[in-house]
Amino acid sequence: MTNLLSSNLGYPRIGEKREWKKALENYWNRTISEEELLETTKHLRLENLKKQQKAGVDLIPVGDYSFYDHVLDTSAMFGVIPERFDYNGGKVDFETYFAVARGVKNAVASVMTKWFNTNYHYIVPELENVKPTLTENYPLKYYTEAKEELGIDGKPVILGPITYLKLSKGYEEKDFPTLLQAFLPLYIQVLKELEEAGAEWVQIDEPIFGTDVSKEVLDYAHRVYAALDEATPKLNIILQTYFERVIHYKEVVELPVQGIGLDFVHGDSLASIKQHGFPNDKVLAVGVVDGRNVWRADLENRLELIKEIERYVEHDTLIIQPSCSLLHVPVTKKHEQALDPVIKDGLSFADEKLEEVVTLTKGANNKKQRITEELKASDEALTNLKQSDYRKDHDVKRNVENLREQDAKRTLPFAKRIEKQQEDLQLPVLPTTTIGSLPQTAEVKQTRRKWRNGDITNEDYEQFIKNTIKKWIAIQEDIGLDVLVHGEFERTDMVEYFGEKLNGFQVSEFGWVQSYGSRCVKPPLIVGDVSFDQPMTVKEVVYAQSLTDKPVKGMLTGPTTILNWSFVYDDVPRYTVLNQIALALKEEVKAIEEAGIKIIQVDEPALREGTPLDSAKQSEYLDAAVYGFKLTTSSVKDDTQIHTHMCYSDFHNIFNTIDALDADVLSIETSKSHGEIISTFEENTYEKEIGLGVYDIHSPRIPSKEEIKQNINRPLQSISPKQFWINPDCGLKTRQEGKTIEALKVMVQAAKEIRESKLSNLV
Ligand code: GLN
Ligand code: ZN
Repeated sequence: MTNLLSSNLGYPRIGEKREWKKALENYWNRTISEEELLETTKHLRLENLKKQQKAGVDLIPVGDYSFYDHVLDTSAMFGVIPERFDYNGGKVDFETYFAVARGVKNAVASVMTKWFNTNYHYIVPELENVKPTLTENYPLKYYTEAKEELGIDGKPVILGPITYLKLSKGYEEKDFPTLLQAFLPLYIQVLKELEEAGAEWVQIDEPIFGTDVSKEVLDYAHRVYAALDEATPKLNIILQTYFERVIHYKEVVELPVQGIGLDFVHGDSLASIKQHGFPNDKVLAVGVVDGRNVWRADLENRLELIKEIERYVEHDTLIIQPSCSLLHVPVTKKHEQALDPVIKDGLSFADEKLEEVVTLTKGANNKKQRITEELKASDEALTNLKQSDYRKDHDVKRNVENLREQDAKRTLPFAKRIEKQQEDLQLPVLPTTTIGSLPQTAEVKQTRRKWRNGDITNEDYEQFIKNTIKKWIAIQEDIGLDVLVHGEFERTDMVEYFGEKLNGFQVSEFGWVQSYGSRCVKPPLIVGDVSFDQPMTVKEVVYAQSLTDKPVKGMLTGPTTILNWSFVYDDVPRYTVLNQIALALKEEVKAIEEAGIKIIQVDEPALREGTPLDSAKQSEYLDAAVYGFKLTTSSVKDDTQIHTHMCYSDFHNIFNTIDALDADVLSIETSKSHGEIISTFEENTYEKEIGLGVYDIHSPRIPSKEEIKQNINRPLQSISPKQFWINPDCGLKTRQEGKTIEALKVMVQAAKEIRESKLSNLV
C-alpha cells in the first residue's frame, strides 16, 4: 500500500452540548428568526469541519449535515414533497421542509421510521405522483461552503438512489425501474456539478446492500452506477455500505464505481473478502473503528485486521475509516467529569474515534513504531476496563447460565388469564388509557435540574414529583380515562432512568445522540454485570394508586429496549447482557406486583429496531428478545395483567414475535404511520388484547373526534371490540399540557360514543 487515507463517513450534527437542538427548537417556537437559525447552524457546521481537519482526517465528509434528517434532505433536494403540503416546485423553504417532518394544521406529517437497525429515525419519502426535479444541489452547497470558508476539499455525501427508493413508499414494486430512471438524471446532475466544482471523491451511501435485495435490484444498481460513472469520469465514487456485511458481496463489489466502503466491525466482511477476493481496480474503504458503540478501539487488534485485509487488496490506495457515520455516537468525551476514570479512559466518542482512525492510518502498513504511545494507551485502558470490578459479579453470571426455557412462561394460557383479569379489573369495553408518560413541562424539567445541581433537597424534589402525580391523577379522572398512569415525571428518559438505578450501568453527562429531528437521547453505558439493586418505580406508582379507585399501570422499560438503547460493553455476547437485564427487571416486576399493582406495562419500543439486517441472524435475535421479555414478565400471578408497547418501526413480518411475547395487552403506534399496521392484524388472527394508537401524538394539532372515531372503527372491522383498547400512539412526555388534555378528552369522548353504539351488539 503506498497511499493510506483516513476518512470519515459523517459527523454528529447536534453539537457538543446540543446547540443544534436548541437552535432548531427556538426557531420552531419563534424565539429566533430564520437568519439566526442559519447563522447558528453554519457556525456549528464549520466548527465540526474544523475539528475533523484538526484531527488530520484526509477525507472529510460534507453534506452529511442536516436541519432534521438526511433522508428528508434528499427528498427536498429532489422536490419530493407530498401534495398535501401545497408545494409548488422550486427551492424547498424551511416552512415546507419542517412541515413534512412535523405536520401542520391542514396536513399530517410524513411517516417517520427507524433507520435500519438504529434508533435514528428518518422521514419516509412519499413517491405518489411525484415528478422529481433538482430543486437545489445540497451536497454542492456544502462542498463549496467548506472550500470557501475553510479551504477544505471535502468529500460530499449523498444518499444513493437504490437505498433512497427502497426506503420510500407510495409506489408498487413494478414501478421501481421507472422511478429509478426518473431520479437518475438528477443524480447525474448533482454529481456532474460536484465534479465541475472540483470534488475528487464522493461518498454514495447504499446501506440497503446490508439487506437481502433481489437479483433485479442488483441489476438495476449496475446500470445506474454505470451511468453515474460514465457521466463523471473525473469523480471517484465510493459506494458506501454499513451496519452489517453486504449480503450479495460479489455483485456489489463489482458495481462500476471507483471505491467500495465495507463495515469490518459488524458482520463478517473479512470472510467475504477471503472467500471472493476484492477487485484489483478498486479502492477499498475499510470501516474498522466501531461507529455504533462508544468503547475505545483495540488498536493492536485493528492493525492486525487491516494487515490481513491488505493481503487481499491490489490497489495502492486504502482508506481507513469508522464503520458508519458517527451520527450514532456522542460528540466528545472531553466534557465528562463525573465518570469513573476507568470508564472514561475506556471510552471513545466521535472526536476520539477520529483520532483513532488517524492513528490507525499512521500505524498501518508496518509502521507500528510510529504509534507506540497510542498502542500502549489503548491496551492499558481496555485491560483496566476488563479487569475492573464491574465485570466480576459471579452470582449474576451463574444465574444467567442456569436459565431454562420454563423460567420464561406464564402458568395459564392467555384465554384463561384474561378471564381472571377481567373479573378483577372490571373495565368497560374499549377501555381508554395512555402509554405512560405525561407532559414534562418546563417546570418539571427545571425542578429536576435544580435537584441535580443540589439547589433543592431530595425531599423537595420527591414532594414536587408527588404533587405533579397528584395533579395528573385528578386530570386523568376528570378526562374519564379508565386505566391511569402516574406520568413518569421522575424520568428524563425511559432507559437512562433505569441505567441510573441498576447495577452495571454508568451514565454520561453529555453523551447525547440524535434520535429523531431535534430529539436527542443519552444512552447509558453498560459497563459490566447487570443486577437489581432496589425497587426503581414502585414508590411513584403506589402513590398514584393510593389517590384513585381506577387501576394505575406500573411502568417500566423492557430488557431488549434497555439493551438496544444503551452502549453495551462488547466483550461478552449481547444476549448474555440481555438476560442479565431481564433477571434484574423481573425483580422490579415482582416488587410492583407485591405492592398491589394489578397492571404492569413493560415497554419494548426498540424491539424491532435491533433486528439484524441479515435474515440469517434474525430469528436468533427475535427469539432472544422474546425470551428476555417473558423472563421479565412471566412470573406474575394469573390475574396480573401484563401490557407492552411498541412504536415507530416497521412491524411487518414480526407478527409472530409480537404474539410470542404473550403480553395480555399490546399498545402499538398506528396513526403516525397512517394505519399501515392494521392490515397485519386483519391478515392474522390476534387473540390477545390490543390498542392501535388512535391519534398521532407528534402532530401539533388536536385530532378531531371524527378522525379518532374513524381510526377506531377501521380496525374494529376485523378486531373484536372485546379485545380492543383506546390509546394514543405513544407517550406524551414531549407534548404541551393544555393540548394533551384537550386531545385526550376528544379521544375519551370518541371512545364513549363508539362504546355506546357497539354495546347493543356485544351483549
Ligand atoms: N412508557 C413510555 C412513555 O410513555 C413509552 C415511550 C416509548 O414508547 N418510546 O413515554
Ligand atoms: Zn412509543
